[in-house]
Amino acid sequence: KTFKDLGIVDSLCEACDRLNYKKPTPIQREAIPLALQDRDIIGIAETGSGKTVAFALPILQELLKKPQPLFGLVLAPTRELAVQIAQSFEALGSLISLRCALIVGGMDNMQQAIALGKKPHIVVATPGRLLDHLESTKGFSLRNLRYLVMDEADRLIDQDFGPIIEKILKFLPRERRTYLFSATLSSKVESLQRASLRDPLKVSV
Ligand code: AMP
Repeated sequence: KTFKDLGIVDSLCEACDRLNYKKPTPIQREAIPLALQDRDIIGIAETGSGKTVAFALPILQELLKKPQPLFGLVLAPTRELAVQIAQSFEALGSLISLRCALIVGGMDNMQQAIALGKKPHIVVATPGRLLDHLESTKGFSLRNLRYLVMDEADRLIDQDFGPIIEKILKFLPRERRTYLFSATLSSKVESLQRASLRDPLKVSV
């Protein structure tokens, strides 16, 4: 199967091709068709499985249909992972003039506020710093957000981001799609899932 067989549009297939993603990985084969059917998804997959592309492509494909600022938010447990995710979005979005902002701790707050002011399509963030901006950056709102991704949810929980994520959820519209990816499904991950996903389908590889 190719990305096109999974329902991915030509411009994004071409981006995959340029990145030398010749054929979808198992998690991409499982998750992409369901995501394109407009469903919330729980993905049980490890780093290295290609999970980032599995959630990025469906979001970008929907963004192409109806370009809109602050369309997608990805929450990641560490700065390093957030950087990698933002790089993946930028690489896949290079043909469609995607704007992506990275909002992580340990970097200049003011610069990030300016980046958010430029109305990026996608925000990739660690939870603490994102909540700071939601609470105090003037003019920044995620009330039109369409997609939320919680990546490495087990690690988000391990780092005690649960209460912060609960607060972030209050700033997001209920009408949205949500994808949760995790290497394992603990009871704490399941309670995060119940608090944030609606009638999800589970895929695991
Ligand atoms: P991830 O699991 O998202 O951290 O991805 C692991 C690595 O696989 C990243 O370096 C991706 O660039 C790469 N990758 C993702 N999808 C594919 C694919 N379909 N074919 C080859 N490499 C891929």
